[in-house]
Amino acid sequence: MLKNFIASSLLLSLFSNAVLAHKKHENENQTQEITVKTQKITDRVYMLQGRGGNIGVSTGADGILIVDDDYAQVSAKIAEALKALGSEKPRFIFNTHWHGDHTEGNKFFGKDSLILAHTNVRKRLSVESLVLGNKVPVYEKFALPIFTYDQSMSVHFNDEEIRAVHYPNGHTDGDSVIFFTKANVVHLGDDFFTGRFPFVDLDNGGSVSGLTKNIGEIIAKLPADVKIIPGHGALSTLADLKAYHQMLIETTDAVQKGMASGKTLEGLKKDGLPAKYKSWGEGFIKPDFWIETIYKSLSVKK
Ligand SMILES: [Zn+2]
Repeated sequence: MLKNFIASSLLLSLFSNAVLAHKKHENENQTQEITVKTQKITDRVYMLQGRGGNIGVSTGADGILIVDDDYAQVSAKIAEALKALGSEKPRFIFNTHWHGDHTEGNKFFGKDSLILAHTNVRKRLSVESLVLGNKVPVYEKFALPIFTYDQSMSVHFNDEEIRAVHYPNGHTDGDSVIFFTKANVVHLGDDFFTGRFPFVDLDNGGSVSGLTKNIGEIIAKLPADVKIIPGHGALSTLADLKAYHQMLIETTDAVQKGMASGKTLEGLKKDGLPAKYKSWGEGFIKPDFWIETIYKSLSVKK
């Protein structure tokens, strides 16, 4: 049993490295052709999509505030897109969590902008960290969040309260959800991959059951007509978030039942997940990887 687990962990990390190496290669090839898509959500709030995580933007008389800032390689193009919305220098940047596809732009914008994030984001970026076994070097001081919070933080900006709320141990241990309270828009960071199995960073405080609980709490708070910016994927609705929540519950349940009946991880992978979730495994996180994530997350808990 333990031997199987170690062997499969090894396979998983080999697989992850292969995926990341492939992605890195892809990045290098595509740097020149990356375009940044700007989508208007309300008069004041926009979504930008470049190479990594989605960016939320508040625009208006007070200037620009952004939520997440993508990979460093697209920073110049992000700045161009922001300039078209009023200024290429955001006054404030929220980081929803520490992963590079949401924070590397700190290295580009951090000398001019004030960066805000949960305490654990600054902690993880201040030391050499590992994600899926790959080293992430320490960020320079100017690229670190300068304001940190444990529970929540608001910026009163462009005639509304932009409020960050920390949800513990979901995608990582430093996740924030950012509410544009007047615009009725919310940025969920990587707590939400719309229509896809999510990446849960178990090595950095993530938890499948924690994520499921957080999403349930967030759903209960949101109005029916809210517009949702996911960490990755298209602008979404509350119905999309509910479908994602249901997926988390049902896939976890399937793995949990299998484990209770004594199935090995290999057996669980062979069984697969409910057929209706087939399309959810067509993104970065494949069904076997998702099954293994749930399995490991449930194993840690016990
Ligand atoms: Zn992430």
